[in-house]
Amino acid sequence: KARQAEDSPVAVFHASMHAQTLLTLQLESDLRQALHERALIVHYQPIVTLAEQRLSSMEALVRWPHPTRGLMAPNVFIPLAEALDLVHELGMQVLEQVCADLARWQSEGYTPPPVSVNLSARQLSRPALATELLDAIARHRVSPASIRIEVTESLFARPDGPAKAALQQLRQAGVMVLIDDFGTGFSALSYLHTIPCDVVKLDGSFVRSLTDDARLRAIVRRSIELVHDLGIAVVAECIETEDQATLLHEMHCDYGQGYLFSRPLPADAMTARLPPPLALAG
Ligand code: C2E
Ligand code: MG
Ligand code: MG
Ligand code: MG
Repeated sequence: KARQAEDSPVAVFHASMHAQTLLTLQLESDLRQALHERALIVHYQPIVTLAEQRLSSMEALVRWPHPTRGLMAPNVFIPLAEALDLVHELGMQVLEQVCADLARWQSEGYTPPPVSVNLSARQLSRPALATELLDAIARHRVSPASIRIEVTESLFARPDGPAKAALQQLRQAGVMVLIDDFGTGFSALSYLHTIPCDVVKLDGSFVRSLTDDARLRAIVRRSIELVHDLGIAVVAECIETEDQATLLHEMHCDYGQGYLFSRPLPADAMTARLPPPLALAG
């Protein structure tokens, strides 16, 4: 009798809905627990100069070592954290960990390059955001110049939101502002002159199609030129091949990030990529 009910499409639909809901609820409580235990970790991905492929900065990318699901990528749990209004708490934990790693590297004699931290658009609507970030940086006694923030361009759809004031305040304190996923939103080039930023990160989707699309190459080349004319530097994301790196360097793109240079690395593995402490440099 139960058999029949299970096989009906409606019952199957309900069963899978139920499973989905349970899964989300489980993840939700796991995420709260992880934040409570400060269990999230940070990986670092090198950003290099395209001219010499020398380490210039690094991006902090959050990871969740889940007790049963393994190391989880942010695309899975950042949207959940946003929906649960936990993304600011998460972002602050990432910043704290980055500051702690920077302070530790410095105490060990390394001179780590600046680290950029991703901010969720939801964080930018907090009136006190800049102060909260600067307080955390000061508490760890690292220089504001050693921290950078990455924000996506969708933030600027509103012409004069609170975000710009926060970005100004951060830049005045020495924290550089990077525009992430540049080119994926609405007419990027038409608003860029109004945004307080220092660097744009050309989205990986452009980099991927560069080598076999001549018209896209023309657009990217001119965009880099225009961004430079505004006094803003350019990082290309998701560089995976030598051809892409060469092409972007020829287009005067300043920096590159991607698997060609390095995957995101745990802090310990990143240590080995830092310029060695002076005492060891001989
Ligand atoms: P994003 O800020 O654009 O970060 C770049 C993503 O591209 C990272 O994915 C990185 O691992 C990946 N990537 C780097 N090089 C390559 C490459 O050569 N090929 C390919 N296919 N991918 C590459 P990840 O770490 O999974 O992060 C995904 C997104 O999650 C990030 O995109 C960012 O928007 C968000 N995210 C990461 N950490 C944080 C965080 O601490 N806070 C917030 N709010 N968002 C974060
Ligand atoms: Mg980013
Ligand atoms: Mg990006
Ligand atoms: Mg991206």
